[in-house]
Amino acid sequence: MTAIENVLRLEIVTIEECRDRFRSYLVKHNLRMTGQRMAIFEAVFKESSHFTAEELLDKARSIDRTVSRATVYRTLPILVESSLVREVDIGTNLMYYMPNKEQDVHKAQVICNDCQKIFEIPAPFMEWYGSTVSSKLGLTPISQRLQVTASCEEWQATGVCSKSKNEPQS
Ligand SMILES: [Zn+2]
Repeated sequence: MTAIENVLRLEIVTIEECRDRFRSYLVKHNLRMTGQRMAIFEAVFKESSHFTAEELLDKARSIDRTVSRATVYRTLPILVESSLVREVDIGTNLMYYMPNKEQDVHKAQVICNDCQKIFEIPAPFMEWYGSTVSSKLGLTPISQRLQVTASCEEWQATGVCSKSKNEPQS
């Protein structure tokens, strides 16, 4: 496979594979596989869009009401380190998360400036661009990101987003 074919490969992993990966990650790092951790995992993989740690806490509690906030905040970094969850920093004081169902695909984020809805689009050429410019300098890329601020359809149509966290403008 050439580098570019490798970059374009879209590998969608099943929830069973992810669950196995999570279990082996816990075993490998001498972490206990508790019911709470599995409830957090299940809540994460039910999601199809971005969520905050607090939103995850609510969803995990609807599966297992003994899940504590501390466990959510300790488990999220484990899920991120094991590449099962992607952390998305949009430059606000809140961190967003998303299950990493498409492994090895670089994503760019387009974020509504009003309601902060995050759209994700595959951006394989970004990764290619990053490694090309780095290798010209004799460097190895570690991370890169592309974020575009935009106005969502609702904002364009009505001038305000119903989920807006900003104060309405007078
Ligand atoms: Zn919006």
